[in-house]
Amino acid sequence: MTARIFTGIEDKLGLDKFKAFHKPHLTLEKKDVDQKKLVEEKLFICPAKVYTLNDKNEMVISFENCLECGTCRVVCPEEIGWEYPMGGHGVTYRFG
Ligand code: SF4
Repeated sequence: MTARIFTGIEDKLGLDKFKAFHKPHLTLEKKDVDQKKLVEEKLFICPAKVYTLNDKNEMVISFENCLECGTCRVVCPEEIGWEYPMGGHGVTYRFG
C-alpha cells in the first residue's frame, strides 16, 4: 500500500463527501450590495470557493460545496445569511 501524496487543498477537499439539501443554507441578504466587490474583496476567503461571479458580475453561491467552517459568516455578517444545512445534509469530512 502506498501513501497518498496531496498537492494542495483542492486535493484534500476532494476526499470529503457532500449531500446537498434542495434549499440553500447560504443566502445573499443585502440585494443592493456590490456583488463583484463583495466576492473579490471579502468572500474570496472561502476555502471551498463557494462564492464566484458569473459573466454579469453577479454572485453565484455554490452552497452544495460548503465546508460549514463559518468564515463567510464572520467576514460578512450582514451580507450573507448563514445556517447549517438540514440535518443529514452538508459535508462529511474524510481524512486521507
Ligand atoms: S462556511 Fe466556509 S466553506 Fe462554507 S461558504 Fe462560508 S467560508 Fe465557504
